[in-house]
Amino acid sequence: MGAQRVLVTKWGRFGMKFQELAIYFEKIESTASRLEITELLASLFKELTPYEMGKTMYLLQGRVVPLFEKVEFGMAEKSVIKSALVALQVDRSAFMHEFEKQGDVGRTIEIFKKELLTFEQQDLDILEVYDALHTLACSNGTGSQEVKTNILVHLFRELDSLSCRFLARIPMGTMRLGFSDMTVLDAFSWMLTGGKTLRPQIEKAYHVRPDLGYIGNQLKAQGIDGLEQVKPTLFTPILMMRAERTNNPAEIIEKLGECVIEPKYDGFRLQVHYQKKSGEVRLYSRNLEDVSAMYPDVIAGIQKEITADELILEGEAIGFDPHTGNFLPFQETVQRKRKYDIAEKAKEIPLKLFVFEILYANGTSYIQSPFMERRNALEGFVAITGDIFQDTITLAPQLITSDAHALEIYFDDAITRGLEGVMAKKKEGVYQPGARGSNWIKFKRSYSAKIEDTIDCVVMGYDYGRGKRADFGIGAFLVGVYDEEQDMFVTVAKIGTGLTDEEWKDLKSTSAAQITEKQPALYLVDKQMSVDIWIKPSAVVEIKADEITRSPVHTAGRVMKASKNGNALQVDIPGFALRFPRLQRFRTDRRPEEATTVSEVKSMFEHQVNTHS
Ligand code: AMP
Repeated sequence: MGAQRVLVTKWGRFGMKFQELAIYFEKIESTASRLEITELLASLFKELTPYEMGKTMYLLQGRVVPLFEKVEFGMAEKSVIKSALVALQVDRSAFMHEFEKQGDVGRTIEIFKKELLTFEQQDLDILEVYDALHTLACSNGTGSQEVKTNILVHLFRELDSLSCRFLARIPMGTMRLGFSDMTVLDAFSWMLTGGKTLRPQIEKAYHVRPDLGYIGNQLKAQGIDGLEQVKPTLFTPILMMRAERTNNPAEIIEKLGECVIEPKYDGFRLQVHYQKKSGEVRLYSRNLEDVSAMYPDVIAGIQKEITADELILEGEAIGFDPHTGNFLPFQETVQRKRKYDIAEKAKEIPLKLFVFEILYANGTSYIQSPFMERRNALEGFVAITGDIFQDTITLAPQLITSDAHALEIYFDDAITRGLEGVMAKKKEGVYQPGARGSNWIKFKRSYSAKIEDTIDCVVMGYDYGRGKRADFGIGAFLVGVYDEEQDMFVTVAKIGTGLTDEEWKDLKSTSAAQITEKQPALYLVDKQMSVDIWIKPSAVVEIKADEITRSPVHTAGRVMKASKNGNALQVDIPGFALRFPRLQRFRTDRRPEEATTVSEVKSMFEHQVNTHS
């Protein structure tokens, strides 16, 4: 230990002392100038060997691993104080008295340590301190608190007073030197060139592998050429690509030409890293937090439904109603973000993962491949049945179009189905890590419309239920309004949520006498809205909805026209539909012809209150 370990290498000397690092910590802490911090970091980096660089980088962040790795020290302030008292042989009340004055454990320890010159200090290397802290962080389970305390006691004894100030802050997670990752990227450039010219290049690499220790190590070892080694890496999250925004379908087509339109799911984004051999799956949130522990159902789904040996993909996780097959609004999906009762909630609100990106598989990086190629590859790595009740993973459906009108209809339909809007993607676009690039354009509405009135609808039929609803024999029911011009009933919603068990039973029994084998001639229903059981017009129900939207699959107010080739009819003006419809009550006092009419729905649509969100 000590002086004889100092070794001069082509990069600098090996074996820098923690004490020297602590002097840098102090200088960095005491300046508010970003430029000065950049220069200080660069001069520190110059002194380190590549190996030391990586580890020192983590210590500068108050850690022993990169931020996205879930290794926590797990020491509270009181355990750190306990170690200090043992190490320094100080009386507790004297310590606490000083602590009250200082308001900072690190500074308090520093003060006591300064007075105790009798200890033989060993001047530990950065690497020795790093190793000790790494062991401290990684020990858990029974007896681990004692191991942690002992390690700290040892370090407090061996290190000088200034080092003790900073050391104390690391296990408590309070080491905040006041610089961002971006300042470190500047400092890397500064280290190599004395200026910020290389920052864009370095930042690009950081977006692919946001591990400052690794990048620092590469730059130190190989200079700027070291960045060529920076590739998508399993279990290191890649900064996620973001989307531009517009509210104008014509503008999307203008910008992207013929493009891919996907529904925009309103859940949360997950980046999945999977290795078949070890069975390991890690899930990262948009801010790169490891959230694997929260979503055991997604993990099991990946293990079962992914065929690649190694893979990184992205998707949107969204809550699913196992009774009806409907997707849930964000407010319900978000309940899955929790630390407790995880298994229970996973049963109640299982998640489906709509995958839309592949970034890496079996040794190949896909981030530079055009979007359509990525999608092809992605399809090759999932083994799913296509039955949403069975699969956890599902591929985001796609519409390829260059027609702004078709895009608008698709968008309206997505809104009706409770989704947020659509995502338009450039067919040839590469994946741009960390960037809000123009290869993706999101099209959401900037307002949410509200209707106060309820709508009286005729029950037209129902689907068999799943799960618990299978016992009732009814899982979702189709409702419509009266089209006075055509004297027909036309659909506005299929409802699968919001009814009590009693209400489901009531609905079933009141409709029993009215069941008919064929779709009644009075009903105009799109084939996508067809039901298992048809009911003659009889029961009227009062429905509350969030808003009236437009959908190509509902027939209220829908206008069709002949397609270009003259064969089939296609939607010209989509129908009216209810967004988030809920049953209020049965209207036993109403006859079917007294249901709300299409013209009333149209007028409600035109007068609904649009509030900007
Ligand atoms: P925003 O959060 O409004 O900027 O929209 C971008 C987010 O939409 C992404 O981060 C995803 O979480 C989410 N998203 C939902 N569906 C898709 C999709 N099909 N493709 C890409 N992102 C999607």
